[in-house]
Amino acid sequence: MLTAPLRMSRAIAVGFAETQAGWIAARLKRLPMRQPFVDGAELPLFGEPHSIRHRPEMRGTVWREGGEIHVAGRPEHLPRRLRDWLTAEMRQRLLPLVHAKAARVDRSVKRINVRDSRSRWGSCGPDATMSFSWRLVFAPPEVLDYLVAHEVAHLVHLNHGPRFWALARTLCENPIEGPQAWLKKNGETLLQYGV
Ligand SMILES: [Zn+2]
Repeated sequence: MLTAPLRMSRAIAVGFAETQAGWIAARLKRLPMRQPFVDGAELPLFGEPHSIRHRPEMRGTVWREGGEIHVAGRPEHLPRRLRDWLTAEMRQRLLPLVHAKAARVDRSVKRINVRDSRSRWGSCGPDATMSFSWRLVFAPPEVLDYLVAHEVAHLVHLNHGPRFWALARTLCENPIEGPQAWLKKNGETLLQYGV
């Protein structure tokens, strides 16, 4: 009689502590280190480390020289200019990849949006409109390849059934487990750049 409430409260206490620990871990995971776009900062361009170099004396916009990304103009414009450039780089690599994979399943894509979605890396609607996060510009190419394969497979199967996964595998350059594991482990880090 006396031990029952004690046992119960202990169980509740332990349960609460475990829940708290899980919650804190999840919060920490969701608060990655911020990496603002400033002179000297580093960012991965398709997985390759690059450093940002502000070139206030130069005219022009943004250009790449080896492992450096040079940004001309006033410092207050640097983050916006760099982000626009990165988004354009992402589109340039993304579009041919989507169309090539869509051709393999004999489907066409109506529209490809590149946006700042923080909840999903890619999506494909029933109207054959696709969206991808511009932040995939930071991820290794095989991750982008997998996400494109995934969304293109949705042009054929609007579900995550066995036939969908079989098709996604054939459309992906590499075994899908590698990019999936990379996203699970490192996906959050893609959110830390330029914020
Ligand atoms: Zn999906």
